[in-house]
Amino acid sequence: MHESILLEHIYATNALLGKQVTIPPGDDMGAIQIGGEEVLITVDQLLDGVHFQLSKDPIEKIAKKAITRNLSDVAAMGGLPVAAVAAGCIPHNFRQEQAEILFDTMRNTAEKYQCPLIGGDIATGDQPLNISVTVMATMQGIPPMLRCGAQIGDMICVTGQLGGSQHSLDGYTHHLDFEPRLQVARMLATHHQHRPNCMIDLSDGLASDLAHLCRAASLSATVDEKLLPFSKTTALLADQGDHPKWKHAVSDGEDYELCFTMTPSHAEGLIANGIDGVPVTCIGMMEPYRGESIVRIRLPDKTYKDITDLGWQHIGQSEPS
Ligand SMILES: [Mg+2]
Repeated sequence: MHESILLEHIYATNALLGKQVTIPPGDDMGAIQIGGEEVLITVDQLLDGVHFQLSKDPIEKIAKKAITRNLSDVAAMGGLPVAAVAAGCIPHNFRQEQAEILFDTMRNTAEKYQCPLIGGDIATGDQPLNISVTVMATMQGIPPMLRCGAQIGDMICVTGQLGGSQHSLDGYTHHLDFEPRLQVARMLATHHQHRPNCMIDLSDGLASDLAHLCRAASLSATVDEKLLPFSKTTALLADQGDHPKWKHAVSDGEDYELCFTMTPSHAEGLIANGIDGVPVTCIGMMEPYRGESIVRIRLPDKTYKDITDLGWQHIGQSEPS
């Protein structure tokens, strides 16, 4: 099964959805009109062996990620979280104390982001731990930030640093410990000058997530290796391993940073000052369609490499051919 082919199959029926559906499948959240209000909804699952490893990751961090991963999608839309519900399938050998820590941490994390956990469902089974969280959000007076809308010549910007999210350094493991960019995203989305033309959160990695922005606008993109904001762990991994820094930055995934595009004149100031203490880096430019939506990287030797299909490899998965 190819995830991308299944998604295309799903998107093919978007036009059949009623007009109350304001954002159909294919964005970071879907949206529906309820009594004159636009309500945004997202769901994400967290699977042992895929998104975390119960054998080594602390239960508190797994629980926190179950909530923050969804909140990163709320950030991608520039929205405000409203409430969460969760469903979990808990393995038979899970201890009562572990299950209570799992629930307490999920509830406290949700509360911290003004997104109360208001319900859910628990099952037990023989399979590995699986947590599924649904979050609702509102826009409170502004239009949602969508994946579509990039223009030729737009600067491509990212918040924070990229790559090495699975690697632990000094007790910090980015994919478990990240801060969802809710506040930065909201400031961008509501800003009279710096509102981006499109936005996405980086969950699968810059290469494949930027490809989503390109496809949504029927454009291509080139990023420049020398502009990429590498994380500390990216530099460490590149020193120790076989892959260059840029490859970690574009394909490790789970950065949970924002990627957005805007007119160059609007991006000035933002790049210099960052936003709400978070650095913003311009990493490249949106370009015309090349018969398909292509994401390229310009390497230091001035050659270009097509990275459109360089996506995130889940834990335990081998490199796609
Ligand atoms: Mg997302």
